[in-house]
Formats: sequence, structure tokens, C-alpha cells
Amino acid sequence: MAKVIPLTDARTRDARSLDALVREAAFGPGQDARDVADQRGRRLHDLRISVTDRCNFRCVYCMPKDVFGRDYPFLPHAELLTFEEIARVARRFVELGVRKIRLTGGEPLLRRGVERLVEMLAAIDPGLDITLTTNGAILERKARDLRNAGLKRVTVSLDSLDDATFRAMNDVDFPVAKVLEGIEAAAAAGLAPIKINTVVKRGMNEHSIVPLARRFRGSGHIVRFIEFMDVGATNGWRMDEVVTAAEIVRVIDREHPIEAVDANYSGEVAERWRYLDGAGEIGVIASVTQAFCRDCTRARLSTDGKVYTCLFANDGFDLKGLLRSGVSDDQLRNAIVAIWAQRADRYSEIRSAATARAPKVEMSYIGG
Ligand code: SF4
Repeated sequence: MAKVIPLTDARTRDARSLDALVREAAFGPGQDARDVADQRGRRLHDLRISVTDRCNFRCVYCMPKDVFGRDYPFLPHAELLTFEEIARVARRFVELGVRKIRLTGGEPLLRRGVERLVEMLAAIDPGLDITLTTNGAILERKARDLRNAGLKRVTVSLDSLDDATFRAMNDVDFPVAKVLEGIEAAAAAGLAPIKINTVVKRGMNEHSIVPLARRFRGSGHIVRFIEFMDVGATNGWRMDEVVTAAEIVRVIDREHPIEAVDANYSGEVAERWRYLDGAGEIGVIASVTQAFCRDCTRARLSTDGKVYTCLFANDGFDLKGLLRSGVSDDQLRNAIVAIWAQRADRYSEIRSAATARAPKVEMSYIGG
């Protein structure tokens, strides 16, 4: 490879280039690229692809209006990876062991023609678990086409059933009823099981925990309650605003008794709990109080083609530069191997008030 691509990850102190890492990680004959593990022995399993940094909501914990206002410099179109580039990178990740791909954003349904991307990803391997996280605002319109394109499941973010609370949290006065219609349309299209993600922030929506659990009991949908995290640098996170997973479980258990269930697979993010009366299950994501870095097998591809190996990273590795410099597929795969092999991330294990203030990439750019 002729061109040296600077390694832009600020966490790496020496100025090695991605080019050098690629050469170190090059595979010899007979070696299986899927054997690649990071510095803590974690293998690649999940790839999250952000397809846009834009969103039609301004959720207070993710894209607060005072930061993401009218003048916010979102990425220009030429900076975004094309669908062809995304599919080419995704194919290399699949060759390295990825079995699950999640499209995120921003709001992924805002990327024009996203169904075509789903189709291209589904063509990589019919066994791939392809899913998408959405705020549900335009899901009703899109659900059928997404399903036809090869999407298997969908996760809908929904922080409250109370209309006033929901409108306040999305900060664009969007009604909860429209999101519920989107969930119904997704279910009718066969995008099941539907997961509903609820970030719980103290003083904001903890009164919504039981109504949400109750509303989706018996529906086959799985509500997953998520501890409020210090994502990005703009959400003003404080530990006393975290409603802990233990507290969430206690509150639900008081109304509708639940018991813990084993994980579906090693590395599953949500702890599973099922209703004793057989009305289904919920999940709890204890990202703050019970870090799950040890089993974290997720890589993230940003809208502009950087690979991040942690949600709380400050910077990523510029694959777009590599892609557009005319590298071969083998070189591209080696670059990914190199990035993964040097990974040592464990942010949630070392989180503190000080790390919460450290610079981090915004979730709306990298995907949740
Ligand atoms: S903090 Fe980083 S390494 Fe830990 S679980 Fe989250 S994304 Fe994975």
C-alpha cells in the first residue's frame, strides 16, 4: 500500500500509522482472519453502522437543542460513505466474524433510500441478523419496504407513554401516538421481535417505567430500560440522574413480578427478566452500574467512515481515506484486523465524574 493514512485515534500515544498497523496485522497463508481478537481477547461479533448524523428529534440527553441548533455543522453529503462503500466495508467485517449489523444514526430512516442499503447488506449473507434503531417517527411509512428489503427486526426508542413527557424529551413536540403507530406497522410487517429502548433519567421519566412495562406486557415486544449514560460531551450527565437497573427491576417487580433469565448469547447487552405470569420479558441495560466491557464485541462505523471501537471513544480510525485511496479488499480487511487487534477499550469499567467530562464523540454521530 503506497499511501500512509494517519492513525487519528487520540488514545494511541505513539504516532504509528494505520498503514503500519495494517502491515503488522497482515495474515499469512492458512491463518483464519476470524481468529482475530482484541487486546482483551474479545472477538468481533457486532457492527453498528451510522448512516446519518441528522435527526428529526432533539432529545435532551442526546442532541440538545442549544448545541444542535439551526447552525449546527452537520456533515456535508460528500463526506458520507456511499451505500456501495458501506456494503464493501460491511462485507469485510462479516469475513472477520460479524454476525449482526445494526443501522443507526442520527435517525437512520432519514437517509434517503436506506432500504436499498438494507438490501445490499442482506445480500452479503442471508443468515446475517440485520436490524435498525429508530425513533419511530416515520416508521409507519417505511416498515413494509424495510421488511421487503431484508430487515429482520427493529428497535424503537421510546422514553415515555405520557404525551407531555415524551414531547418534552424529544423537544420537537412530537406526539407519542405516532411512534405507537410506527410500532404497530413494524409488527404488522413482521419485523419481530420488536425491542423498545427507554433511557431512564431521574427527574425526567422514571414515572414512565411501569406504564411502559404494562403497555407492552403480552404483546411479544420487549421493553429495554437503559441507565442514563454520559454519551457525548453535551448531555450534562451526573451520576445522581442515573436510575439504576436494580431500582428499575424493583419498581417493575412490585407491580408485575419478574425473574431473571439467562442471556441468549455471551456478550448480550441487556439483562433479561421475564414475567412470572408468562406475559413476556423485559430487558435492563446496566451500562453504568454493571459495566459489560468484558464481553463487548461491537465495532462502530460512523457516517463519514471512521471505525470506533468504543461508544465513548474520542476519535476513530479513518477507513474512508483508505477506501477512497483505492485499496484492495484484502488491504481493507487487514486494516480492520489491525484496528481490532490493538483495541483495549473498557470505558464503562473506569467511568468517573472526571471521565464523564472528557471529550467524546457525540452519540448522534457514532450511533448508540
Ligand atoms: S464502554 Fe466501550 S468497551 Fe465498554 S461496553 Fe461500552 S462500548 Fe463496549
